Amino acid sequence: MKATKTRWVKFLGTAGARFVMIRQLRSSAGIWYHLDGFNLLVDPGPGTLVRCASSRPKLDPSSLSAILLSHIHLDHSNDINVMIEAMTNGGFNPRGILFAPPEALDGETRVVLPYLRQAVRQIFPLTPGTQFPLTEKWTLHIPPFRHRHPVETYGYLLTSPAITIGHITDTAFFPDLLEGYKNATILIINVVRLKGDQDAERGIQHLNLEDARTLIREIRPRRAILTHFGMTMLKAHPWEVAAQLTQELGVEVIAANDGMTVDLSAE
Ligand SMILES: [Zn+2]
Repeated sequence: MKATKTRWVKFLGTAGARFVMIRQLRSSAGIWYHLDGFNLLVDPGPGTLVRCASSRPKLDPSSLSAILLSHIHLDHSNDINVMIEAMTNGGFNPRGILFAPPEALDGETRVVLPYLRQAVRQIFPLTPGTQFPLTEKWTLHIPPFRHRHPVETYGYLLTSPAITIGHITDTAFFPDLLEGYKNATILIINVVRLKGDQDAERGIQHLNLEDARTLIREIRPRRAILTHFGMTMLKAHPWEVAAQLTQELGVEVIAANDGMTVDLSAE
């Protein structure tokens, strides 16, 4: 008999930053978690709805329990409205939870359409250090700091008695990340750049491979998963980079592919 997977994460897309997204060198769809029956979608970039429909097996957006947006940049937020519609049966069946930075919800910077707000059962603005119980087993934790990125950006931890999934979304490196994500047993890192270059001066504020190495070496999760690749990372072959890090650090490091599912049931 085939064992059923009770916990998994599926990377619908692994594109990072604008050029890989615009040219669709990798899909820019989001990340779908299945956490013991709780379905959570994170950062629905362009193509998320399409990728749900073309996934094998299909992912049904009306089975989503929640959507989390880390920040308003287009490669993360483009499909937020259509996914809210899909989660709520065209807005006719109000349900689900939306987690998003305050600036995604209100004011000039908002990306969630006002008329869709009532379709969602609950909306929680993300703020540093908050936590939200998702189910009896699972809790969403926001580290006690904003990420360093040009817009209001948060990473998150999904904790359960068995595992803690940490996702370091878009950010420049800063030492608080080591403390904030230290409990992650599964660590997902958005590694956009191969090298630092003049990123800081240009205000791009993304992690590079050296930053990812530091994070994995210091946090020492059971497994690290790299995703959200920009052009320089793609050219360096993320799977080779991951194999090298595995050997060097003695931690299993995986490079995500479009459509890759990681089974977390046995963790
Ligand atoms: Zn961004």
